[in-house]
Amino acid sequence: MKDYITVIGGGLAGSEAAYQIAKRGIKVKLYEMKPTKYSPAHSNSNLAEIVCSNSFKSNLITNACGLLKEELRMLDSLLIKIADETKVPAGQALAVDREKFAELVTEELSKNEKIEMINQEFGTDGLHIKDIANDGIVIIATGPLTSDKFANEIAELTGGEGLHFYDAAAPIIEKDSIDMNIAFWGDRYDQERAKAEDVEDWKKRIEELKEADYINLPMNKEEYENFVNKLVNAEIVELHEFEKREIFEGCMPIEIMAKRGLDTLRFGPLKPVGFTDPRTGFRPYAVAQLRRDNQEGNLYNMVGFQTNLKFGEQKRVFSMIPGLENAEFMKYGVMHRNTFINSPELLDETYNLKENNNIYFAGQITGVEGYVESISSGLVASINACKKYNNQEEVIFDENTMIGALAKYISTKNEKFQPMNANFGILPELGEKIKDKKVRYTKMANRSLENINITNL
Ligand SMILES: Cc1cc2nc3c(=O)[nH]c(=O)nc-3n(C[C@H](O)[C@H](O)[C@H](O)COP(=O)(O)OP(=O)(O)OC[C@H]3O[C@@H](n4cnc5c(N)ncnc54)[C@H](O)[C@@H]3O)c2cc1C
Repeated sequence: MKDYITVIGGGLAGSEAAYQIAKRGIKVKLYEMKPTKYSPAHSNSNLAEIVCSNSFKSNLITNACGLLKEELRMLDSLLIKIADETKVPAGQALAVDREKFAELVTEELSKNEKIEMINQEFGTDGLHIKDIANDGIVIIATGPLTSDKFANEIAELTGGEGLHFYDAAAPIIEKDSIDMNIAFWGDRYDQERAKAEDVEDWKKRIEELKEADYINLPMNKEEYENFVNKLVNAEIVELHEFEKREIFEGCMPIEIMAKRGLDTLRFGPLKPVGFTDPRTGFRPYAVAQLRRDNQEGNLYNMVGFQTNLKFGEQKRVFSMIPGLENAEFMKYGVMHRNTFINSPELLDETYNLKENNNIYFAGQITGVEGYVESISSGLVASINACKKYNNQEEVIFDENTMIGALAKYISTKNEKFQPMNANFGILPELGEKIKDKKVRYTKMANRSLENINITNL
């Protein structure tokens, strides 16, 4: 066995991982392809480059990302510590001076005697994963813009089908925020079948369908046309040049589909066929469907609503759908270049590859989404890589913590797996129903912080 751990990729996850390993007294070889080669979004030669917004989101623990940061502070995350040191005024959010942030992370890792920095692209010139993973522990943290050659190696490693190159995800909504006086349960044709089967009281049948996989939101003509009108005029996110070529091959954003004609959505994702609105007894003019998104049944995703609208616009326009007026969006829809593996099939809760236990993945490539989320997976993967190196028992973080819930989410079977950011919907529900969101989230956050175990790491 090699007497060091290899980390590939010196971004947010890889830098955190290198620090955590060195802190535990183990040598690290950290491979970063910059400045020899840059992804289309990177331009700074330092480690831990922040490629877009300089915000690490809210610092409040009643915000899921704020809670995750607090957990990371308790776990001695280097990158969150440096983010705190390089913060710029941004109200309740933790925004950083990106240049200083990257500079300080690079300085900290460069002066660490346990860390050897190698500026080379993995997947080229004799640097291949299959050669080093036989007798050494490796963490792959090459991010959403992993270089093409190395992406091919990862595809081979994960069985070809396991690698996705872009993200086309629909928004995800918290079930308890849907107005069930308007929405109704059931799969398409369920009610018609119930009628055909001569079920005496089909309203009763609809009741029986509760907790089915789909929640349906009926619209009348005026509501539908008003919605389409707002949708086609909403503001979209400008894609990078490199993304424009690739993104739309697989699926079309709902706003583009809507621009093809007023009725296009009624013949597509908002098709009302097979439904009867229990309130009217008639087929609605259009129906938006929400599909159950997790085992607990507290998250639902908007079927066919992959979108490129700005987040604020998603909230404004999608909340116009009757029943979603007060919807809590746990995750907004995105369509962007994003290399990620099919983690539910491939990884366990320690980010360890099931097929080859010497390999860990960390960062956005695992399907966690966001700066802080990437740091958190780097921390979990590296703690466990050290445990493996020392032949010690693995560390699985409690599912009541945000760091543990994220690890659980990416490693739990999910046929429609899409990357996920920190949100309260992935935490187990409280034993009691609390309507007030702030009170509920405060309780959940306190439970998370009580369950962070900082011993034996
Ligand atoms: C364009 C874009 C904008 C984003 N904007 C935001 C945002 O505003 N807010 C947010 O929270 N998240 C954002 N994300 C998502 C995500 O949080 C960031 O990409 C984050 O940096 C991911 O961390 P990471 O460590 O997984 O990857 P990265 O930080 O990208 O690090 C990966 C590192 O690996 C290196 N690398 C790649 N291939 C190789 C190779 N073959 N050999 C050696 N090194 C290699 C890269 O040069 C890079 O330094 C964005 C992502 C993209 C692509």
